[in-house]
Amino acid sequence: MDTNTNRCKICGRELNNPDDPFSEDYEGDCLQCMADCGDPDCAAKVAKINGQTEPTRISMR
Ligand SMILES: [Zn+2]
Repeated sequence: MDTNTNRCKICGRELNNPDDPFSEDYEGDCLQCMADCGDPDCAAKVAKINGQTEPTRISMR
């Protein structure tokens, strides 16, 4: 397994890229794709990065 340059299995972006806040590695998928797939934790994180206090569809705990 190539751990040098991990890429998202869905969108193909480089994972854990310090220049890309949405590239955080979630078991092979990036944060953005996990959020797109409906993962509530990732959606909340993406919303936070986007400067929102609360995601639109998911209520915070
Ligand atoms: Zn992705």
